[in-house]
Amino acid sequence: MTHSCNQMPDLRSLPGIRLSNPTVGHSLSDQIQQPQDTSPSSDVRHERPTDVWAYISPSRLNTWLRCPRAFKLRYIDGIRSPPSTNLFVGKVAHSGLERFYRHKQMGVTLTEAEVVQHLEMRWEAMATEDHVVFTDTRDEARLRTQAATLVTAYLTQVPAEEPAPTLVETRLKAPLVDPFTGEDLGIELLGIVDLVVNEASGQIICDFKTSTRSSGPVEIIHEVQLTAYAYLFRQLFHELEAGLEIRSLIKTKIPKIEIHRYSPRTQAHFRRFFQIVRQYLDDLDRGEFVYRPGFGCTMCEFHDGPCVSD
Ligand code: SF4
Repeated sequence: MTHSCNQMPDLRSLPGIRLSNPTVGHSLSDQIQQPQDTSPSSDVRHERPTDVWAYISPSRLNTWLRCPRAFKLRYIDGIRSPPSTNLFVGKVAHSGLERFYRHKQMGVTLTEAEVVQHLEMRWEAMATEDHVVFTDTRDEARLRTQAATLVTAYLTQVPAEEPAPTLVETRLKAPLVDPFTGEDLGIELLGIVDLVVNEASGQIICDFKTSTRSSGPVEIIHEVQLTAYAYLFRQLFHELEAGLEIRSLIKTKIPKIEIHRYSPRTQAHFRRFFQIVRQYLDDLDRGEFVYRPGFGCTMCEFHDGPCVSD
């Protein structure tokens, strides 16, 4: 279904925009059937160092925005730390939701117990793969239970009548062409969209998050990611999104699920997005990555070592 609404500027109608990939230039409903390739080698979350010119991703942009030096250490120098156990729980919960929606896409509704059983089976392999270090076996058992209760809470809350998804954990890639100038920036944008559901109002692009605390909708936190997804979606499927959602799994004692919906992206979103992309590319061109000390350093994996080693 294609939307036409004066308040929802169509990216395709902006100057210079062009369709990027004729092989996926169909309506989204034509794209539903086949599960996409989400093997680790195709996943932006498994980026290798030294390939910063291969593509831009929302996670790369967000890391650079947070601190250009952290970006350099991670993506150019290739310094990686194992994910924290908190992040790992989120990743495991995410894999459970992916499994649930892949089955739903094929007309099979898994029970909560079946999804949790899948998590139990995958836990050890995923922990080994990510080199996760648990404090002790009790800590590991607690985190394992936390992942299961988060997924259970989500599946309990999600409406049974939610339409089958049109996309699940799907890798989208398209050239970055500035819609306001028509300039091809010479690099592709890559994003992995967690979920797209086709509601009566149209396609809703959803992203899953895990968090330790609940919060109201603060749209700007997700600005880069949501605008990137909307750009890719419009470029590849020739449709406007009807909305974008952040679905948060909150790790409170009794897990909570928060769903915040945001409006389709506007010209202002795309203008800001391309300003960020251009600044990012300028830094890459110059090879200059200033450090940005501040409160964010407390959560930075590099704060007690590589950041200040030269
Ligand atoms: S410790 Fe702070 S300044 Fe250093 S890389 Fe991390 S965020 Fe940047």
